Amino acid sequence: MKYLKYLLLMLFIVFIYLFGISSTCDNGPSDPTAGLYHTYAEIDAELHALASSYSAIASVTSIGESVEQRDLWAIKISDNVAQDEDEPVVVLFGCHHAREWISVDVPFLIAKYLVENYASDTLVARLVNNSEIWIAPMVNPDGHQYSVTSDRLWRKNRRNNGNGTFGVDLNRNYSYQWGGPGSSGDTYSDIYRGPAPFSEPETQVLRDFMQQMSPKAMISYHNFSQLILYAWGYTYSPAPDEALLDSIAVVMAHKIRSVHGKDYTSGQASTLYLASGDTVDWLYALLGVPSYTIELRPTSSLRPTSSYPGFELPESEIQPTFEENLPAALFLIDWAIDQL
Ligand SMILES: [Zn+2]
Repeated sequence: MKYLKYLLLMLFIVFIYLFGISSTCDNGPSDPTAGLYHTYAEIDAELHALASSYSAIASVTSIGESVEQRDLWAIKISDNVAQDEDEPVVVLFGCHHAREWISVDVPFLIAKYLVENYASDTLVARLVNNSEIWIAPMVNPDGHQYSVTSDRLWRKNRRNNGNGTFGVDLNRNYSYQWGGPGSSGDTYSDIYRGPAPFSEPETQVLRDFMQQMSPKAMISYHNFSQLILYAWGYTYSPAPDEALLDSIAVVMAHKIRSVHGKDYTSGQASTLYLASGDTVDWLYALLGVPSYTIELRPTSSLRPTSSYPGFELPESEIQPTFEENLPAALFLIDWAIDQL
């Protein structure tokens, strides 16, 4: 009995010691870091800082909330930014999938580039003056946070499925052809489509946002494999506008290659693998506008190993991945303006 008391006392001391360390650590659970990649808190702070520094052309809005009630922040970039002008809307999304950290930083850095170069770059000024660009770099903030704090390779959102499993694949939860091939009804699966179309608050927010905005073009960034993909994903049949979708994708691939020589392969999404209920198929079915999944670096010519990054792209590749994707995004915005 004496020994038991002693043991309990020792356990108590060890517990207090460990708790004390974790609560005083700068990068504890309340303030995680992802190195040079942006965390949710950093995206929140930096988008607001950009909008405050460039308030004539940039404003930040919460377009809605996640399962765990984090804001889905979007920055609007346009002249007369407070007004809803009769200009084409172009939307850039990042981070439907939590572990795809580079898909946050590329659209964020595009937003930063646009506002910081508006005064000095005539192309940027023309695009910003003649369109309304909405950029939401982290549409799965709960999943991203979990990927930073707990499981680097987490993919889904953080829905409690009620059976000990968590998460719905947001890029299988859109309603168009929901439940088709390339999605799963198994809650354990990484491509679990959810219990119903648009069952998730994140996809409901994105659905309502796109219906309200009626974008003329959209890019949803992912990684990895270096691909530019367009509808359809749910079937091998070609989309009605296949020639247009392909011609734009080919130009974007050319522009990407011209920066650092990286090959991004363009094509119909299903030629890679079938996927049903994704963002691109839904928006293309709704509005018929050019909609793309861009799978960023690295290439998938090798399978990920301990020495090969896969989703975990080295920090040194953040800047060049942004640099090569910038002209492709600018081209798509320019294309949307030309359609008026
Ligand atoms: Zn993805």
